[in-house]
Amino acid sequence: MESFTDIRSMNMEELTAAVTAAGEKKFRAKQIYGWLHQKLIRTGDEMKNVPASCRQTILKDHPLYGVTEVERYVSKIDGTTKFLFELHDGNIIESVLMKYRHGNSVCISSQAGCRMGCRFCASTLLGLERNLYPSEMLDQIYAIQRATGERVSHIVVMGTGEPFDNFDALCRMIELVSDENGLNISRRNITVSTCGLVPKIYAFADTYPQVTLAISLHAPNDAMRKELMPVANRYSMKELMEAAAYYVEKTGRRITFEYSLVKDVNDRKEHAEMLAALVKGLNCHINLIPVNPVKERDFRQSEQNHIQAFLHILEKHHIQVTVRREMGRDISAACGQLRKGYKERSGNG
Ligand code: SF4
Repeated sequence: MESFTDIRSMNMEELTAAVTAAGEKKFRAKQIYGWLHQKLIRTGDEMKNVPASCRQTILKDHPLYGVTEVERYVSKIDGTTKFLFELHDGNIIESVLMKYRHGNSVCISSQAGCRMGCRFCASTLLGLERNLYPSEMLDQIYAIQRATGERVSHIVVMGTGEPFDNFDALCRMIELVSDENGLNISRRNITVSTCGLVPKIYAFADTYPQVTLAISLHAPNDAMRKELMPVANRYSMKELMEAAAYYVEKTGRRITFEYSLVKDVNDRKEHAEMLAALVKGLNCHINLIPVNPVKERDFRQSEQNHIQAFLHILEKHHIQVTVRREMGRDISAACGQLRKGYKERSGNG
């Protein structure tokens, strides 16, 4: 497992080692950790009970990375709020706050850009810029909690990026955010969504059996999946479904499949039948997503009657299925579109 040296990405063990290596007392590590992960400070100066000399020594070798809000859009329809954040090197990422009856859920990005190339996704159009540090994933949550003054209770890692392509940082983020000395968010309230990096599905099931896994499926067979998702050239549907079955068996949890419905591509009745056969017998939930149009791609949203027909076929086969409620439709909802729009406006697109 990779170790991290920026201060907000470090676990208590690493922080304690850094503090003692700097000639400071061990208990300072606990104080600093509390400032970083419970009081959610933005700058080192805010650590009031830590002497300035101690702060400066530690921060010299272990910089404090985070996110700075540059734009915010609030949906007039449902209050969903999208944040554009800038990273210390000028990269831009986006996060989304959704308010539900069960609590506040934040969808975070795991990479600046993405190299997975899914055909319906705006996040990948400019490729991968870089992986995010654990601190930068965490600070999306912290910044939203600071901005709203309300507790975040649920996390979804489904924004820009493929989380399993940044696996160690993802694991560290989960470790820190679920720490009782941090925000103490239950691992059961965390969902990670992957496009299907099979070896990492096994590793994740072994490491974090309490975390919910969602797999972006989007097609009921290999041929169609290859058209939509280049990752399908690396891992077959059979391999993917075996990994999904392993997760269910290992964790005792239900797995989620995301299926974006694209008009005239994967939304026909026969596709629903194939999908039902594919997941038969597996403890799963299928989330149907009416795809958001991306202007660079010629994909359109399925019509209501097709969505309903698809749903009914799955229900007929006793498969747990829902159609995702569209959140924040009026604020450029599709994943990656805000970031791309911002980069184009600021001349970096
Ligand atoms: S859907 Fe996810 S994995 Fe696929 S290109 Fe977009 S961000 Fe990357």
